[in-house]
Amino acid sequence: MVFGLAGAVVLDSAFHLSGPSLIGTGAPVTPDAVALKVIFYGVAALGALVPDIDNARSTLGRHLGIVSKEIQKHAGHRRLFHSVVGLALTGVLVWAAQEGVAFGLRQVGWPLTAERLAANVALVALLVGYLLHLVADSLTIGGVPWLWPSHIRFGFPPWRSWRFRSGSWIEPVVVVGVGVAVITGLYLRMLAI
Ligand SMILES: [Zn+2]
Repeated sequence: MVFGLAGAVVLDSAFHLSGPSLIGTGAPVTPDAVALKVIFYGVAALGALVPDIDNARSTLGRHLGIVSKEIQKHAGHRRLFHSVVGLALTGVLVWAAQEGVAFGLRQVGWPLTAERLAANVALVALLVGYLLHLVADSLTIGGVPWLWPSHIRFGFPPWRSWRFRSGSWIEPVVVVGVGVAVITGLYLRMLAI
């Protein structure tokens, strides 16, 4: 999730996908503008958790209980949901949801959020979160079956011995490092949300 949110902040700072920055730019802080930020960063965070829906012991898996257990039993951990196919399936769901929400927001008169949703801002947020989860998992010894149903697992660096083990001490070091870098970037106004 830290990776996903960090990627979302960097991308948003460069391309202002979720509208103008609400801090220090004088942009009006309307419910409409805030909703867009919440949707963009919320979906990016969720997108970063979704691949582990196939692991009943993950953050999302623990909340979903039986649903996640069944997915793990039938689909298997680090299979369908850790691939481009899983990303495409989730993308279709998010696309449909954002169309529905955009329609609703147009009715209540929140044009900024409605317009950006129609321009696929939620779908982009999902892509960022989901892809960064798969990239992060690719750095571990287990690797990721990006091209499932092919069982070939890809990792980076390609030599397994150069990658780290999930749950090892390197993991919190990398996560805290990325988190501190983003917070510093925000503080120094090199990044903006
Ligand atoms: Zn994973």
